[in-house]
Amino acid sequence: MSTVVRRTLGLIGVRKPFYELSLRLRVGLSQLPLVMTVALVTVLVACFFPETLRHPSFLIGLGQLAVLTLLAFAVPWDKTPRGSYWVIPLADFIAIGALRHSGQDAITGLGLLMLFPVFWLAWSGIAPVAARIISFVLPLAIVWLSAFLSAGPVTLQDLASTLIIPVLMLAFGVTISVASESETARQLAFEAKDRELQQVLRETRDRQRLLETMMDTVSVGLVAVDRGGHDILMNRHQRHNHLLAAPSGNRDPNESQLLIFQPDGTTPIPLEERPVLRAIRGETFNDELLWIGEGKQQRAMAVTARPMTDDDGKFDGSVIAFSDVTELVRALAAKDDFVASVSHELRTPLTSIIGYLDLALEEAEETDEAGQLAGSLRVAQRNAERLFQLVSDLLSSASGPMSIAPKRTSLAEVIRSSLDSAAPKAAAAGVVLRDDCPETLLAFIDPDRIGQVVDNLLSNAIKYSPGGGEVEVRAWTAGGHAVLEVRDNGLGISEEDQREVFTKFFRTAAVRRTAIPGVGLGLVISKSIVEAHGGTIECKSTLGAGTTFTVTLPLDEAQDGERRQAPAGVR
Ligand code: ADP
Repeated sequence: MSTVVRRTLGLIGVRKPFYELSLRLRVGLSQLPLVMTVALVTVLVACFFPETLRHPSFLIGLGQLAVLTLLAFAVPWDKTPRGSYWVIPLADFIAIGALRHSGQDAITGLGLLMLFPVFWLAWSGIAPVAARIISFVLPLAIVWLSAFLSAGPVTLQDLASTLIIPVLMLAFGVTISVASESETARQLAFEAKDRELQQVLRETRDRQRLLETMMDTVSVGLVAVDRGGHDILMNRHQRHNHLLAAPSGNRDPNESQLLIFQPDGTTPIPLEERPVLRAIRGETFNDELLWIGEGKQQRAMAVTARPMTDDDGKFDGSVIAFSDVTELVRALAAKDDFVASVSHELRTPLTSIIGYLDLALEEAEETDEAGQLAGSLRVAQRNAERLFQLVSDLLSSASGPMSIAPKRTSLAEVIRSSLDSAAPKAAAAGVVLRDDCPETLLAFIDPDRIGQVVDNLLSNAIKYSPGGGEVEVRAWTAGGHAVLEVRDNGLGISEEDQREVFTKFFRTAAVRRTAIPGVGLGLVISKSIVEAHGGTIECKSTLGAGTTFTVTLPLDEAQDGERRQAPAGVR
């Protein structure tokens, strides 16, 4: 039906769907089929039954139809009360009645013209019940009135024989109004869906605008890729980063051509290990440092990636964020340089002070019998040594890559020597030292550096057992490594603090409440020494119950290859 209507409208130059036209045009167009049919009837009448054309009721019918058609097109029906255009099809019945009365003898079936207003009323869907009643009553009134107006007496048979027209109209009207009701319901459902869709579209557009504004507001480069690795979103900052990473002269490089370097700023990152490719493989990572670009333009980036999932929870792409941390990285490097050079300058005079204090102490012990001067000198010596240790720690933590000279060494001996040195301190603190190491345990280590680690772990274990207690050192071999463990039953470290103990200048909350001296560098230095050997260091602790530090070290030279350089600035 709708295709027929569309094609018909197309024929008379109307390109829009019928329901999208103005009400005035729809009313006018609804009148047209009747008008065109009557025009054809008039031509037939004029050609073959000219005397009918002269019949006043035929002319009245034609004139009324012409006026109704003009009104249908001229009245602004959308401004009149709803359904008022029904006046046109209702008046059409009267015009058709007039035409039929005078022309039925010439052209049979003129009463069927009533199908047009019946169709119109029923299809409008405004008052389906009224439309059904009208489609019977008005045709009945017309045919019976015509019968009464004809010359001669009207018999019951005459009335019965014309009954077929109103019955036919009723059947037609009912069929059309049922079809119209279902079409209207369909149309309403369609319109509701359409409104819903428009709403969703509006929300999607709003969200898109919000997303774009947010993406361009943050000072972080953001790129989203689909699971095939194609960019689906990239903000302004990231486009700028992309250009920075492009080799000069190439404004549209592919991933393999981008200049992306490791934290040292010079070693290129292999293609497969670049953040975007790792993100496409579904990896999650946080703040990984890399450099992009070359020369003065080079920038340091902290890169973070998170995978996206679809409705079924399957990997569907990734979002990668590039934060420019160049100023921070440069400031940290400058700070390390400063600390390293100041510490270096302090060490020389301190060495001299400690040397002269030693001499002065020796002399005082011989000459000062009351021992007052010697006591004062010993306090000065202890503090000078503590200052020297602090300066040395600062220097180690701030200077460049640490050099180690590993060789086959008896780890057991290194441990015993550290235990010997720690003995006086342990005795003074009321701590019992236990040695649970094998007689011989060879490892491929730098004895001085590992000695420094054991000294530090022992010193901490004693220092952080203020009420006295027991400190045990164990060593054994396992899984091709030498394992060293320092256990105490002192203050302990909370779970939250355990995550931070290897961070520069960190001191636990429990320790900050005491007067135990320290600056939070010993464990950082120990970790970088152990890692430079290719080993690991871990902390396990229960607050208030004690702490265990476990170190693994290479057993022999074969494992030397595993040695890695700890990141600059923590050595
Ligand atoms: P320092 O001892 O000079 O403060 P460290 O780097 O050696 O620095 O240790 C960092 C922090 O870790 C210490 O301040 C302390 O809070 C905590 N810590 C280290 N070892 C222990 C331990 N054996 N028991 C309890 N806390 C410890």
